[in-house]
Amino acid sequence: MSAQPAERLQQTVAEGYRLLEPAQKYTRAFCTDEEITIAETIRAFVNKELMPYRHDLEGGWHRDEQLAKDTVHRLYAKLVDLGVTRTNLPEAYGGLAYAPVVRQMINEELSRADIGLATKVGKIHWIVSCMVTAKRDDLLAEFAPRIVGEESWTACVAITEPHGGANVEDPAQGFRSLEVTAKEEGEHYVINGHKLWPGPSGYADKFRSKHLTGHLGYWTVATTDPRLGPDGVGLFHVPADAPGLEFSNPYQKMGFSWTESNSDIWFKDVKIPKRYRVDTERGQGANIVSGSIIALGRLAGAARLVGLSEAVLEIVLEFSKNRVIAGTPMRERSLFANHLAEMYRAIDIARQYYLSVTWQVSRPDIYGAPWTKEIKAKCSAARSYAGDTAELVCNRGMELMGSAGYAYESHLEKYMRDYKIVQMWLGGAQRDRLDIAQGLYGPFKWAGSDV
Ligand SMILES: Cc1cc2nc3c(=O)[nH]c(=O)nc-3n(C[C@H](O)[C@H](O)[C@H](O)COP(=O)(O)OP(=O)(O)OC[C@H]3O[C@@H](n4cnc5c(N)ncnc54)[C@H](O)[C@@H]3O)c2cc1C
Repeated sequence: MSAQPAERLQQTVAEGYRLLEPAQKYTRAFCTDEEITIAETIRAFVNKELMPYRHDLEGGWHRDEQLAKDTVHRLYAKLVDLGVTRTNLPEAYGGLAYAPVVRQMINEELSRADIGLATKVGKIHWIVSCMVTAKRDDLLAEFAPRIVGEESWTACVAITEPHGGANVEDPAQGFRSLEVTAKEEGEHYVINGHKLWPGPSGYADKFRSKHLTGHLGYWTVATTDPRLGPDGVGLFHVPADAPGLEFSNPYQKMGFSWTESNSDIWFKDVKIPKRYRVDTERGQGANIVSGSIIALGRLAGAARLVGLSEAVLEIVLEFSKNRVIAGTPMRERSLFANHLAEMYRAIDIARQYYLSVTWQVSRPDIYGAPWTKEIKAKCSAARSYAGDTAELVCNRGMELMGSAGYAYESHLEKYMRDYKIVQMWLGGAQRDRLDIAQGLYGPFKWAGSDV
């Protein structure tokens, strides 16, 4: 008797496809054998410690909030123990200082299990990267003990505003649309305004549990004066329990349920010491936001989208091995083999491209800094190609699996809900295309606009 659908769907951790193993898929032009061993270790950890709990990250079919939060915090704490949150922290502060390519391979491997958890790890990398770019040794020394210690902390970067996230990410508008302001008052900055969507966000006590020590706070994009454009923008650290911070309830959304926990943030005369302005030189704030936050954020998204796509391919490979059509496994029939081959081809092209761009980013002396329009174009191309790949792989995969793919037990429906926002955040899928064109023949402005 053939396996029941539910049994077939349990077999979702694939049998080991050599082409998908780290030793085959990660190119030695960009990394060493030893670095590939790191990716293998992470992959083994993911298969054992994360894959079995994928449903629990959303609280199971009934979306049990407590189960979801417990699972998110517990698995995140395991990742902190494993050391993945400190991979871009300099060694001087107890970090691992891995090469960007290695961090991206880890990013890909984690996203096979859950792109939300991988993103949660990435929040720590984001804030560290901004402080490293600004050469803020004092801030690194202040935050490092909580990043490398026994404790597990989360963090958030707040960019998006109610007038439209893509406005902030639009180089043609030069940060003049920003409405969150930071005004100098003696030894402080006073922050006012409203952000939408930053995650994880909420009152500080929501981020204390058995497994989570707390929230490191909000690295907030704000302007001293919108009329100053790029010269006014800065990155301001706001502690999670700063007086004057108010939050909405977390949004209900399609995916990323509790790994992100997004909400409105209102800054009402929030006072922070001057040293919490991360950028220190004129124009550096704009470079950090355009480069370390937007361009590198998109590049990290590319690796995550590839990891997610590979997980979907593995599910479909297993299903099509077991689903028999007139005596022959589905995947051995040419029509279906052709689809599986196209899915693999897109994934590997997306992977090789993001690895190449990541390697180029690690050589700013040759290719330019992350905020140059050329590097931003490449990071945007990597993310948009990986986003289109995830779209193709999820869609095609579900068509190949039919109702079995649509079923909760397949996991595919969750991957399909999750990939979409990683394709869209940090400005949107169209913003990626515009930034690629800007790299070729920009800068250009909106016709008829005086901003
Ligand atoms: C799960 C989740 C997590 C998120 N996490 C964070 C976070 O941690 N921090 C944070 O700050 N934000 C976060 N966001 C917000 C996200 O980055 C924004 O939604 C995104 O940048 C797009 O902004 P918007 O939704 O306001 O779309 P809009 O700006 O309203 O744009 C809508 C669409 O129109 C197009 N568009 C509009 N204007 C332009 C333009 N000028 N140039 C090009 N295209 C344009 C784009 O395609 C865009 O997708 C998160 C969102 C989600 C759903």
